[in-house]
Amino acid sequence: MISQEIKQNLTQSSWIRKMFEEGQRLKAIHGADKVYDFSLGNPVIDPPKEYFEALKNYAHNPISGGHSYIPNQGLVEAREKVAEHLGDRYGDIGVSHESVIMTSGAAGALNVALRSILNEDDEVIIFTPFFVEYKFYVNNAKGKAVYVPLAEDFTIDLDKLAEHITGRTKAVILNNPHNPTGQLLTQEDLEAFNSLLREKETEHEAMIHVLYDDPYSQLIYDYDAPNPFKAIDRLFYVSSFSKDLGLAGERLGYLAIDSRMEDAGEYMAAFVFANRTLGFGNASVTVQRMISQLPTLTQEQAGYKERRNAMVEVLTDAGFDFVEPKGGFFIFPKSPLADDTAFCKLAAEKFNILLVPGSGFGREGHFRLSYSVSLEQIENSKEAFKALLQECKA
Ligand code: PLP
Repeated sequence: MISQEIKQNLTQSSWIRKMFEEGQRLKAIHGADKVYDFSLGNPVIDPPKEYFEALKNYAHNPISGGHSYIPNQGLVEAREKVAEHLGDRYGDIGVSHESVIMTSGAAGALNVALRSILNEDDEVIIFTPFFVEYKFYVNNAKGKAVYVPLAEDFTIDLDKLAEHITGRTKAVILNNPHNPTGQLLTQEDLEAFNSLLREKETEHEAMIHVLYDDPYSQLIYDYDAPNPFKAIDRLFYVSSFSKDLGLAGERLGYLAIDSRMEDAGEYMAAFVFANRTLGFGNASVTVQRMISQLPTLTQEQAGYKERRNAMVEVLTDAGFDFVEPKGGFFIFPKSPLADDTAFCKLAAEKFNILLVPGSGFGREGHFRLSYSVSLEQIENSKEAFKALLQECKA
């Protein structure tokens, strides 16, 4: 009844999903306030008040015919808003409404990009640890995922990357700030990465695209945001309103390219076709309209920085070993037990702490926690984390 491939994937059901189910079970037994659930990357900060004002205004002044099909590329005013935002953020980068497509989240944009460029068995490089859905997206477009481990500090190991690039490499997915580690590559890192790709393109007479996945673009703490448009030549820039604006459930994202890039028009035509034929059609017209009415898409997300600081303090006090996160809302500490799955089981069963094993992200010996939770939960979990580490050391 079900395809072999889906059946196999279902039996290897995601760790995040398993932890979610375990959390529901534990909450039913102990009460929600006694369970420290750090397993999910769901934004906890609400959209800006201007978003709700725009919705209210719209409800009082609806547009007749305003909910019918729209062009698959998206509303011009939404694309203009995105182009203006990217221009303010990154300078003169050649992005106009014509080189932006509105998609169903960053996830939709990645699927559209991959579907547009991959032939069967073309290779796509994914750095590990990674956002697990990438492998399914590559698979959706009949490509072949090639995994390259990030260095110990979660920066790119250029020698390792070089070893994995072949004549079939069509794209590299780069997520910055990074899920699950919270690390941030600098401008120099991006430039060195780009130089290597250009060298390899010449060597293999190939075209290597960079799918720069940036849904955490405005969640960067104490560091300057790098400028991918200035560093990377063959850039497909992907982002969304899921995290920055807290609109994850509304499913609005976008894919932008520099209109001066060679073949920009052909790429955009392919994206629009893929957006339609993957079945997404156009991204939600109402959310596109609301976005275009916001005074700005720039958000200061002080709430996540506060949570990052609180979480770092809890883990440091308890004695965990981790690279301090610079962006996003995840931390990826070393597992105190060699078996990260056993560690996460112990944390859940004995201490009501829900974490996700690093092996679920393609990097064993670690665990991921999301600090996109209430500050209260972070603070209340302090003693439980201490006791957990003590138990592992005993
Ligand atoms: N890329 C990364 C690295 C993510 O963490 C997520 C969501 O968690 C996505 C893409 C998908 O984002 P969206 O909700 O905008 O589709």
